[in-house]
Amino acid sequence: MVKINNNYDKLGAGYLFPEIARRTKLFLANNPQAKVMRLGIGNTTEALTPTIIDGLKTGVANLSDIKTYSGYGDEQGNTRLREALANHFSKKGIQLQTNEIFVSDGAKSDSANIQSIFGFGVVAVQDPSYPVYVDTNVIAGRTEEYDESSGQYKNILYMPCVAENGFFPEVPKGKVDLIYLCSPNNPTGAVATKEQLKGFVDYAIENKAVLIFDSAYASFVSDSNLPTSIYEIPRAKECAIEIGSFSKSAGFTGVRLGYTIVPMDLVVEDTVAGKVNSLWNRRQTTFFNGASNIAQMGGIAALSEEGLKESQEIIDYYMENARIIKKCIESIGLKAYGGVNAPYIWLATPNNMSSWDFFDKLLNETHVVGTPGIGFGPNGEGYFRLSAFGHRDDIKQAVESIVNNLKI
Ligand SMILES: *Cc1c(COP(=O)(O)O)cnc(C)c1O
Repeated sequence: MVKINNNYDKLGAGYLFPEIARRTKLFLANNPQAKVMRLGIGNTTEALTPTIIDGLKTGVANLSDIKTYSGYGDEQGNTRLREALANHFSKKGIQLQTNEIFVSDGAKSDSANIQSIFGFGVVAVQDPSYPVYVDTNVIAGRTEEYDESSGQYKNILYMPCVAENGFFPEVPKGKVDLIYLCSPNNPTGAVATKEQLKGFVDYAIENKAVLIFDSAYASFVSDSNLPTSIYEIPRAKECAIEIGSFSKSAGFTGVRLGYTIVPMDLVVEDTVAGKVNSLWNRRQTTFFNGASNIAQMGGIAALSEEGLKESQEIIDYYMENARIIKKCIESIGLKAYGGVNAPYIWLATPNNMSSWDFFDKLLNETHVVGTPGIGFGPNGEGYFRLSAFGHRDDIKQAVESIVNNLKI
């Protein structure tokens, strides 16, 4: 008799966004006149730029003519796109070979799938963090049951990211095998310094661990002293995989395009150099048939000089939203973090309120929807995430309502 994968039953959580939707719907049913303003979701809102649209149109036009038509491409991605990515990294002083870069349909799939090329061991995550890292390891069977009282799965090391450590963790005291890091961070908006990342690279080399570095928000870093790639740290190619995305940097949330870098120098156990790269290649060529050729043409355009310049203007627009939101939160006397090199504002709830209680309060009093910090891990309790993705007018209305109506 066929059995289901029981690991799915361990996923107690994963109810964050459905629960937000349920409470919002209930509120609207009771307050049909109210206009709800959403600062909750990390989804882009501004139109794609002209250069990217031209790239996508070229991709479509190519398909209309047998002379330029293409069907399946290389599973690893269009060579021109991989070269454009290598060139993009070389501008940061990072030299990559094209066969170290794997194009994908987004960073979510890659950050979910990457665990499958490693054996069972202890996983460490930032707490709070993007839920995909934990949930996919639960599904793969790396964890035991969910523990209600701690809000943690057994066999995962939760590295606290709290105000006291600037929302970036110390390296683990004991030995762990796979470490997920996200910088700039979703949800806290914190960015790791070079010294902090060096601590993790040194730890990984010494303990034969692997870092999975999620750089989905790299292009939101404006402070030139802060790293935007793990490979800015010496020897990171020996221990780190980096996952990137066009979603937040170029508005590809609906177009779908990302990439993963698996350096040839990355060695685990006593395998030879190139082994991990070949495993990811095997995984991708088996499970994945390549990103859309249209999307990849858009990606090439996005990485052109003009494309990058245009996207930067949109990033600046979102970051101005972030500045407006942060200023508002501070003006009502709440403590706000992030929002400077990342499009998220992470605020401490007033009077030690739980993050769900604050969700209800914000919704009832101001009609603004945000995201309770607890949804990202136990150390998110007492915090709340506001997203800077949105149209300026909507952001201004939400901010005005918070300033005028929130009773603290
Ligand atoms: C939005 C986001 C991604 C991007 O996922 P895509 O699948 O490329 O859209 C990856 N990681 C984090 C932490 C994110 O917030």
